[in-house]
Amino acid sequence: MKAVQYRTIGAAPEVVEIPEPEPGPGQVLLKVSAAGVCHSDSVVMSWPAEGFPYPLPLTLGHEGVGTVAALGEGAEGVSVGDPVAVYGPWGCGTCVNCAEGRENYCLRAADLGINPPGLGNPGAMAEYMIVDDVRHLVPIGDLDPVRTVSLTDAGLTPYHAIKRSLPKLLPGTTAVVIGAGGLGHVAIQLLRAMTAVRVIALDVSEEKLALARTVGAHETVISDGNAAATIRELTGGVGARVVFDFVGAEPTVRTAGAAASVDSDITIVGIGGGLLPVGFGVLPFSTSVTAPYWGTRRELAEVIELAHSGAVEVYVETYSIDEAPRAYERLHAGKINGRAVILPNG
Ligand code: NAD
Ligand code: ZN
Ligand code: ZN
Repeated sequence: MKAVQYRTIGAAPEVVEIPEPEPGPGQVLLKVSAAGVCHSDSVVMSWPAEGFPYPLPLTLGHEGVGTVAALGEGAEGVSVGDPVAVYGPWGCGTCVNCAEGRENYCLRAADLGINPPGLGNPGAMAEYMIVDDVRHLVPIGDLDPVRTVSLTDAGLTPYHAIKRSLPKLLPGTTAVVIGAGGLGHVAIQLLRAMTAVRVIALDVSEEKLALARTVGAHETVISDGNAAATIRELTGGVGARVVFDFVGAEPTVRTAGAAASVDSDITIVGIGGGLLPVGFGVLPFSTSVTAPYWGTRRELAEVIELAHSGAVEVYVETYSIDEAPRAYERLHAGKINGRAVILPNG
């Protein structure tokens, strides 16, 4: 079968022919309908050889939707042909966090060498993929796989971040979304569907800001050194009660800190490596700063429910598996508006 692999440190991903996998005990084989292209893949492919955390070659794709093709020995709960989305942040399944479905915060995954598909394990950018356990599948029913696949990360990750801050996302308050890309354009829709806050979106690209307005941002601001001052003006001097930073670079975490109100949440989702100093008098009183990871199993089910209600729509560009390297090039160049989705089976 064809697969998109990162094979050589520093080189572009390649489309290669590899053997079709077979599901082992408890595992499920999926015929992949769609696989999403996430900015995190670009970050992974920029890491140096020294300390690179995953074995190569690595089949990419940590956003996957497919149909059940075969069940390994003892695997039950789904049937061949079922359309399912893959929950990516696999955990041990038995620690206290996994017991709550919070496998994204598994206490033992690192020790046990458990990795997500596409980030250590073979991912969704192939004609077939293995899912380690039925509990990591969420049925999607009649949802369109292409428009649903990125909800497993570009939907789930912002949903998890927003849910944590819901007590602060009250009518009359403002939320800021920095970076209106794959995650950000879904975050704006989730904020509009789940709250009555005013949403201000920031990006460096006018095209992304246009998409931000299309999907529900009340205001859009170019992300530069003046952005925080503009947010203060737009909020009568108060600032934003919650700032979601989907870039996480030095300039954006600085903007986040400068735009935040008293008793705010600053949530750094982007892995751009920016550091935000925290200490008494450095940020407004009682501001809380966090850097969450992905989302919980239950939250993925909730995001899929939201999709069924029509409240969230991922804007997609589709590519055949042979075109996948071009999708990564365009992502790297900042040219993807919404999300790029690969169709491994045409
Ligand atoms: P993307 O490339 O689709 O979107 C990034 C957006 O940020 C683009 O619209 C880009 O124009 C914009 N941008 C770039 N520099 C900016 C700046 N200085 N100010 C404002 N906007 C700027 O990326 P994505 O796939 O949506 O991922 C977003 C980030 O989240 C990445 O860093 C990714 O690695 C990370 N991520 C984190 C998690 C997690 O669990 N924490 C999960 C998924 C992705
Ligand atoms: Zn991702
Ligand atoms: Zn666990």
